Amino acid sequence: MPPLDAEQLRQYLEFYQDLGVKSLYRRTAPAVEPEIRAETSTAPPADQEVRPPAIMELPPLAPSDDTLLKIIQDIGDCHRCRLHEARNKIVFGVGDEKAPLVFVGEGPGADEDEQGIPFVGRAGQLLTQMIENTAKKEGIALKRADVYIANVVKCRPPGNRTPEPDEMETCGQFLYRQLSVLRPKAICALGGTAARAVTGHKEGVTKMRGKWFKWRDIPVMVTYHPSYLLRPYNEAAKREAWEDLKKVLHFVYD
Ligand code: URA
Repeated sequence: MPPLDAEQLRQYLEFYQDLGVKSLYRRTAPAVEPEIRAETSTAPPADQEVRPPAIMELPPLAPSDDTLLKIIQDIGDCHRCRLHEARNKIVFGVGDEKAPLVFVGEGPGADEDEQGIPFVGRAGQLLTQMIENTAKKEGIALKRADVYIANVVKCRPPGNRTPEPDEMETCGQFLYRQLSVLRPKAICALGGTAARAVTGHKEGVTKMRGKWFKWRDIPVMVTYHPSYLLRPYNEAAKREAWEDLKKVLHFVYD
C-alpha cells in the first residue's frame, strides 16, 4: 500500500471512527538487528532494547483508479468475517453507476441472500414503491433502476440480526470504496444502522430522520428502514418517510 498523505490518513481514520472503531492496532516492528546497532556510533548499550517506531497497520485504502468492478474483484469469495459462514450470495449493490442518488441499507435479508441483489424482498418492494410513487407524485421521472442501492454489510447476518461492529468495520471498507467511486449528489441512509455507519452520528433513527448529515462532502438524508415501515401501526412513520424521501428527491433532481 503506498504511503498516505496527512489528509488521506485523516479521512481514513475518520471513516473507521464513524463505523464505531475506537482503536487501531499497531504491529510493533521487529527490533533492529544487533550487528547493525553495534556499527552505529549512537548505539545504546547492548542490554537496552531499541525498537524503531511501530508501523501503523491500516486496511488498504481505495486505489486512486478504483472502479466497482475492482471492488467486486477485491471482495472475491470473501471470508474476512463470520458472515461468510451462512451466506449464499454476496450482495454487492445494484443500479445505475452514474446515479446521483444512492440508498444504503443495513444488510441483505433472506431473499437478497438467495438472489444476490439488494432490496428484493418485502422491504425491497416497499422501497421500490416509495421511490417510484413519491417521484411520480412530485413530478420527477424516476425509476428504481435509476438510483444505486447498496448495504453496509454485503452478507446476510444470520436471522437478520443487526451486523456486529467488527463485521461493519471489515465490510465498511467496501462501502467506503463504493461511495467514493459512485460519488452521488446525495445519499439516503435507510434505518439506524446505515445512518450511524454512514454519518458517524450515534443517535437513534427517530432523532436523525428528516435531517441532513454528511458523508465526506456528500449530503446524507436519514430515514426509516422500509422493514420498520412494514410493521403495523406505523402510519405516522410512513408519512414521515415519505416526507424525507421528498426532500432528498427534490434536492437531487430539481
Ligand atoms: N434490508 C436491508 O437493509 N438491505 C437489503 O438489501 C434488504 C433488506
